Amino acid sequence: MSAGSAQADQHQRMRGIRFPGKYLQGPDAINQLGCVCKEFGARAFCVLDHGIADMLRPIIYSAFDGHCEFSLVSHNGDCTWAEIGNLAHQAKEFRCDCIVGLGGGKALDAAKAVADQLVSPCVVVPTIAASDAPCSALAIIYNEDGSLDRAHHLARNPDVVIADTTLIAAAPARFLAAGIADGLATSIEANACRTSGADNTFGVLGISLAYEIADLCEKVLFEFGEQAIAECEESLPGIAIERVTEANILLSGLGFESCGVAAAHGIQDGLCELYETHSSLHGEKVAIGILAELKLQNASDQQFQRYEEFMGKLGLPTRLSHIGILDAKKEFLEKVATRACKKGDIIHNEPMSVTPEMVVGVLKQLA
Ligand SMILES: [Zn+2]
Repeated sequence: MSAGSAQADQHQRMRGIRFPGKYLQGPDAINQLGCVCKEFGARAFCVLDHGIADMLRPIIYSAFDGHCEFSLVSHNGDCTWAEIGNLAHQAKEFRCDCIVGLGGGKALDAAKAVADQLVSPCVVVPTIAASDAPCSALAIIYNEDGSLDRAHHLARNPDVVIADTTLIAAAPARFLAAGIADGLATSIEANACRTSGADNTFGVLGISLAYEIADLCEKVLFEFGEQAIAECEESLPGIAIERVTEANILLSGLGFESCGVAAAHGIQDGLCELYETHSSLHGEKVAIGILAELKLQNASDQQFQRYEEFMGKLGLPTRLSHIGILDAKKEFLEKVATRACKKGDIIHNEPMSVTPEMVVGVLKQLA
């Protein structure tokens, strides 16, 4: 179907958008945790990212004080079915009224998957703004050997998301920059899906509000991105950190989930196949995915440079060597392209047909 006829057909199709139940953001917002959990009952089961457990434990004790009982379990860093089953068993034993996830992506995803299994309310507290995953009804599940199993679709988005900008500003600026790249992909991919008529992550077209949100996300990131990184480097949350946190976590989260994803994320999935990229963050690989997607879309030099220069200023990768691929050998690029172009995968949400040869060709230009 051509892009034109796809668009003409779209008015007859189902559209949708999904949200977390409540989103709270601000300096020291984590102090609301006890109050928020009390609304669901007297007992909260908390899954705490082991990387920041020592730093967060006293803050959590004080946030729950006088509000509800809680059990605090340090998360081992994996989001596997075995770990989810183990946490769900402990949460059940504790007879909890809600599940809380605190930390980075894997701890939050584990908490979301446990809440889904137990059909329990879920509260997530992202302590970095490195990706747009926290608000979504998806959990990325890994195999025991560390390879990707699947993006697991959950019945509900989190009931409450609490973004504490004091914690986010205190984390390394690299995380915030990665989240900006993840957020920059949202509008580009949303527009690719809108043009092609591709489904969003829950199988319908995005409703018009979803595209407005994706576009707002991009506007905010270009306007406040550089200042936010400067504030983060000083660990001083100001207006830019507030705006960029909202864009990275909420706007990008709503945008990607309700508009759909395409080549930038398809190529990031392909890049994950190379061991060399494993020390790069999700958003850093998405940055390369964005530039490759723009090339695939035949974007003007001016448009390409707008993203390339902006990402360069934020310290984001703009070349394959920046994500560990020092020698862009043909067999490496073919491995990435084969995975990215798997039949039925998200890269095919683009308005044009994409072949592995085309992906190899654009990646070569980023070597
Ligand atoms: Zn992403």
